[in-house]
Parts: sequence; structure tokens; C-alpha cells
Amino acid sequence: MTAEALARDLAALLGPAAAGRVFANEPMDRRTTFRVGGPADAFVSPASTLEIAAVLRFCRERGVPLTLLGNGSNVVVSDRGIRGAVLALGEDFARIEEGERGEGFREVHAQAGARLAVLAAFAGRLGLSGLEALSGIPGTVGGALRMNAGAYEHCMQEVVVRTEALDADGTAHAVEGAAHRFGYRASVFEDRGLIAARTTVRLAVDDPKRIAERTADYGQRRRASQPLDLPSAGSVFRRPPGHYAGRLIEEAGLKGVSLGGAQVSPKHAGFIVNAGGATAADVRDLMEQVRRTVEQRTGVRLEPEILFLGEW
Ligand SMILES: Cc1cc2nc3c(=O)[nH]c(=O)nc-3n(C[C@H](O)[C@H](O)[C@H](O)COP(=O)(O)OP(=O)(O)OC[C@H]3O[C@@H](n4cnc5c(N)ncnc54)[C@H](O)[C@@H]3O)c2cc1C
Repeated sequence: MTAEALARDLAALLGPAAAGRVFANEPMDRRTTFRVGGPADAFVSPASTLEIAAVLRFCRERGVPLTLLGNGSNVVVSDRGIRGAVLALGEDFARIEEGERGEGFREVHAQAGARLAVLAAFAGRLGLSGLEALSGIPGTVGGALRMNAGAYEHCMQEVVVRTEALDADGTAHAVEGAAHRFGYRASVFEDRGLIAARTTVRLAVDDPKRIAERTADYGQRRRASQPLDLPSAGSVFRRPPGHYAGRLIEEAGLKGVSLGGAQVSPKHAGFIVNAGGATAADVRDLMEQVRRTVEQRTGVRLEPEILFLGEW
């Protein structure tokens, strides 16, 4: 099936309301924060759980490979792109609502396509604390759940109480508390291939002014230490037990080293940035060079935190 035919069938499946939400041969460098990667055959951005389920069933019945994407801030898409359909949960699926209130806390519900920063700002305005440290992570709620995203000793696990998810058949599942199986950049969504559709976070009642101050402070720390002016996917390697990847890379003399358009950030050696015109192959090859050099020098084997999508 051609990319055009696949996109046409997906648009027909979702009906007239899908106008502007289904694309053929969509360049993935526009849809990922690294700004690298070739086209996805079909790119679809559902606006409801029913639409997500319909796309899942369609792909399963037709044998179309399906790749799930949020804001594309933790991925490298190959230069050859992605075959089949990309199901992207973003601003078309991003409702945030106030939930139940209790003694000293309040719940907030967010659809998976909502940006974490928008959810944090929503909570802050209501005087609800718990997301300040995570507010600078440039992902969606769905991507943050899958990765158990975290920063400054805080992570999603601390606030998430319940998630409505879909399996590959489009069947709904409720994931409660410990069943999220959160670990270091790991969760049940990865283990069981579940798609998070809507989550509920429980946040502590606090003074909006103090929440705003803490959020600003975390933002300042991030701007001071991270190369936010250049495209990247954040830290490329997981934290090895007992070490910091960035420090090992710096000690191996690799800070600022380039390969093609990819560079180990001179500001933070844990980041690889697209310094201009990088290809996905540049990023992958530089990661491999860093990995080899660090292992030779220190014996520590770095494991990627970022995920590789598409045809490599
Ligand atoms: C400048 C910068 C700073 C960063 N800082 C941090 C940081 O401090 N801490 C941190 O943890 N990360 C950080 N990251 C990495 C990234 O932002 C997080 O991992 C984020 O949670 C990814 O969310 P996303 O929506 O972009 O997911 P994507 O990159 O689109 O996808 C990541 C994974 O999540 C899956 N996924 C997406 N949506 C769903 C869903 N609804 N249900 C199930 N699975 C889903 C995808 O299939 C994929 O496997 C940073 C990235 C950048 C560019």
C-alpha cells in the first residue's frame, strides 16, 4: 500500500472531522525536537479515545505497522523515516480538567497529548504543587508516563494515581497506583505496549506564589545547565549506577566533539545537539563513538535513554 493510499484510508476511517489531522509522507524532522529524520508514510493525530481505538483496530486488521509518538522529544527517527502509520497524541488530544478535591489535595485529569508544561502551569494557577520540577520537560503527558520522566529528584511516579489506557486491540484498561510499574525511565506502558489516553495526578494544595517561585527556579537551573537553544532530545544516555553519564563523557574528553552536524554539547556533555544540518545517522554514529570511548576509558557501558524509531 502506498503512503498516499494509507493516509487516504485513515482519513476516510476518521471521517470529515479528521481534516488537517492526517498526512501522507510527513517529514519527521518537523515532528521531533532533534529536527532529524525522514518521512512517516502516514501521520495521524486523533482527537478522541474512540479515534485512537479506530486507528489501532485499522492497523491491526490491515497489518500496518504502528508507531506511537508524543511530542517527539525523546526520540531519533531514522533518515529513511517510518513505514506504516505514526499515531501522534498532541494538541488535538490535550484536555485538562480539575478533578476530585480532598483534605489538602486535589486531582487533575489530563489527556495524553497535553504538554507537561501546560499541565504544570494549570496546576500552579490552581495552587496545586507537585509538578514544578517536571515543568521544563518538553514532552506530553503520555510520553512522560511512558518514560516516567523526571528531573531534580522528582518524577511522574510521585503524582500519578490512575491512567486510562488502550492496548493494541483498542481495548480500554484502567491502570491504578502500583500497577503503573514505574521504574527508572520505565513503566507498564512500555512493558505491556499500552497507550496512555488520560491520566489523573494528585497534587498538594499550596500557595500559588510559592509554586511559581519554585517553577521559576527550576527553569533557571535548566537554562543555566542545558543547551536549550539547539535541537536535541535531552540526555542521550541513561544514568549508569553510581555515575553521571555527562561527567563520564566529559572526563573522556568528548565534550564539544562533533560528527557531521551532531555534537556533544559543549554546555552539557550528557546532551547531543543538532548543531546544524545533522542527520539521524550522525546522531547514532556520534552516540556509538561516545559509548566506545567511555567504555574503553572507564569500563562503564552507557545505555541509550533516547529511543530509535523507524527504519535503521
Ligand atoms: C531539552 C530537553 C530536555 C529534557 N529534559 C528531560 C528531563 O529533565 N527529564 C526527562 O525525563 N526527560 C527529559 N527530556 C526527554 C523527553 O522530553 C521526555 O522523555 C518526555 O517525557 C518525552 O515525552 P514526549 O511526549 O516527547 O514523548 P516521545 O519522545 O514522543 O515518545 C517517547 C516514548 O513515549 C511513548 N509514548 C508517547 N506517548 C505515549 C502515550 N500516550 N502512551 C504510551 N506511550 C507513549 C512513545 O511511543 C515513545 O516510546 C528532555 C528532552 C529535551 C529535548
